[in-house]
Amino acid sequence: MIGTGILKGMAVTLRNFAGSYFDKERLITVQYPEERNPLPENYRNFPFLIFDGNDPHAGLRCVACQICEKECPPQCIYIIKSKDKKPDYVGKPQFYPAVFDIDISVCMSCQICVEVCPFEAIKMDKDFELSKRERFDNLLFRKEQLSRSNDYYHKIHPIEATAVDKNLADAAAAAEAKKKTAAEAAAKVAAAKAAAAQAPSTVISPESAAGSTSTPGEAPPETTTKS
Ligand code: SF4
Ligand code: SF4
Repeated sequence: MIGTGILKGMAVTLRNFAGSYFDKERLITVQYPEERNPLPENYRNFPFLIFDGNDPHAGLRCVACQICEKECPPQCIYIIKSKDKKPDYVGKPQFYPAVFDIDISVCMSCQICVEVCPFEAIKMDKDFELSKRERFDNLLFRKEQLSRSNDYYHKIHPIEATAVDKNLADAAAAAEAKKKTAAEAAAKVAAAKAAAAQAPSTVISPESAAGSTSTPGEAPPETTTKS
């Protein structure tokens, strides 16, 4: 019969409408902003910089290599490298960004900066409530504003952050093992050099030509002199 489909559809709508008063599962809307649906793990918005520990400067993972700046398609990242260095997560002295800005009015959330970063220093945020009254300065995010803790990263991307922590721990362990091996090899070389310096050196006396050898401290073989 013509119109049966429409009636069936209306029946589903009516059932859900009435049911939503009794069954919370049928409610597909929330009272935003008081209520919020949890965002999925892989939701992303704009990038942010990660720091370890509690100090945003000391713990900042970014080493100002500027790879992300070069690779960003709309060129919305601006970095100035520091003059001095600070230790990175394995204790190696590294540069850091004296300036790190992202113009989020230009950023297209492509995540390329995250993909190319070799230091797990930049990740995608989930914060989407970023509306501002001013189009320019307010949407230019500075280093201080972009820096977020690793705890925050765990809160918004728990699975990804755990995997990243494991990668960094493995890299730190490998660097430590390499350092230990190098130190052991250097100690062995130093010991061998010291032993060689202390060992008595062989002196070839004129008599050695005749088949006898003397070493320092030993009395030389007696020789007779014709008068
Ligand atoms: S997400 Fe894409 S557009 Fe935005 S800063 Fe990163 S590379 Fe640039
Ligand atoms: S965020 Fe990563 S790729 Fe970009 S400058 Fe810092 S360390 Fe380099």
